[in-house]
Amino acid sequence: MQPGLTIGYVPQIETVDWYFPVTVEEVIVMTRTNSKWWPRITPAERIEVREVLEKLGIADVANRHIRELSGGQRQRISIARALASNPEFLVCDEPTSALDVSVQAQILNLLAELRQRLGLAYLFIAHDLSVVRHISDRTAVMYLGKIVEVAPSAELNSSPVHPYSIALLSAVPIPDPAIEKKRKRIILKGDVPSPSNPPSGCAFQTRCWLKEKLGNPERCATEEPPLAASPRDLDVAVACHFPLEDGAAATTKVGRTAAAASSKAQSKA
Ligand code: SF4
Repeated sequence: MQPGLTIGYVPQIETVDWYFPVTVEEVIVMTRTNSKWWPRITPAERIEVREVLEKLGIADVANRHIRELSGGQRQRISIARALASNPEFLVCDEPTSALDVSVQAQILNLLAELRQRLGLAYLFIAHDLSVVRHISDRTAVMYLGKIVEVAPSAELNSSPVHPYSIALLSAVPIPDPAIEKKRKRIILKGDVPSPSNPPSGCAFQTRCWLKEKLGNPERCATEEPPLAASPRDLDVAVACHFPLEDGAAATTKVGRTAAAASSKAQSKA
């Protein structure tokens, strides 16, 4: 990351207390000036706040109280507060997870439009891969606090190589009934281990469906796989001793067996 880069932060839900009797305009000025007290808003600040709200299409709510706003409007205020310091880089921490699906789509479209219009870069954190692929150029999948696969988003969605990415992708519905009928969601067994006491070897080994299909190779339990370039594509990095060639096929039951057989054959070659 560039030194001196200005960073903004969009939280999961707007953190201003609903019952705190503050107006949208006041809360944006308080964010800009990093103040905990009601600000005396100057005419220049008033114009600047209007400009930020106009970027988000909500200039009409400047004098309303936060508690009067809908969930979607409050999330726009979070974005407005993040934009108030004219950042170049925005960290968006699950900004749509508390919203219903139609409002989610509006906020994602708004973020995509702002990125284009203001030349912003995002670090977008989410649990839902369908949301991530809508907004990101590159996707990193994490398990127990470590990256297990990183790839261009289109590639990660069409042909993931790590068994955990494949499990996540198997839960994302595909709007084609013929394809959807053939797919079988991968339900991971057991609980997520504690990150402070991760399993030996590969951290995913206690829940990995591929390890089971490969006959529980010892390497999975003894050797931590490094994040390394995939043998298939240097633009993809994966942390698995047996990365899959065609992860999309592995979202069906038959495909999983075939993919495991091919991964086994490759590791022997
Ligand atoms: S190294 Fe083994 S346990 Fe870990 S993801 Fe790969 S196959 Fe699964």
